[in-house]
Amino acid sequence: MICDNYDNVLERVKAAAVKSGRNPEDVTLVAVSKTKPLSDIEELIKHGVNEFGENKVQELDDKYENVSTPVNWHLIGHLQTNKVKYIVDKVKLIHSVDSLKLAKIIEKEAEKKDCICSILLEVNVAQEESKFGLACEEVLPLVEEISKLPHVRVKGLMTIAPFVENPEDNRVHFHKLHELLLDIKSKNIDNVDMNDLSMGMTNDYEVAVEEGATIVRVGTAIFGERDYSI
Ligand SMILES: *Cc1c(COP(=O)(O)O)cnc(C)c1O
Repeated sequence: MICDNYDNVLERVKAAAVKSGRNPEDVTLVAVSKTKPLSDIEELIKHGVNEFGENKVQELDDKYENVSTPVNWHLIGHLQTNKVKYIVDKVKLIHSVDSLKLAKIIEKEAEKKDCICSILLEVNVAQEESKFGLACEEVLPLVEEISKLPHVRVKGLMTIAPFVENPEDNRVHFHKLHELLLDIKSKNIDNVDMNDLSMGMTNDYEVAVEEGATIVRVGTAIFGERDYSI
């Protein structure tokens, strides 16, 4: 069931890439396993899936320690500075950095563990009051500051788009984030890659791919609805 769902989402991701003239290989599907049991993850691992996303440090850490085969972990949720030390050397990518303070703590902990930590900057592109993330105009100055940190590597941008009935309503936000990525990329800042665009969830991942997403984060369409009451 979960594997069929995964295959279905992956097919749609690829079709959206082809439709918009992109190479399907350039889009990574991250299976967002938050709140879901390890057994669900193991099923997908057996199926060949390698990229998993979690939004809580504790849960990511538990799953990291207990999974049967090493896979790539993505931290996609808000990260508190006091939790950085638990995951800095365990994740492939932190999607949700939105302050210099947090980046500096990542630098400190990555140096201690002698690793380089790849991050995305989270942008609140739709300017929703309830959301974490930078305003568009804050992104370039922050990239410039973080580029000076030797153990942190900025790889691109991430956004959590508004919840909308019609995914087309988010196209404008995805488009804007892509423009911002290209704009910053064109500045060729040392130690900064600006190749990754993490956007699109269950409701809107196809539109996100059409607008240039290189990473989509899909939970519900793969694992089913989440039950937060347990
Ligand atoms: C939960 C979550 C997702 C996945 O959401 P679905 O709508 O279930 O696909 C993606 N990104 C972030 C940051 C999340 O917290």
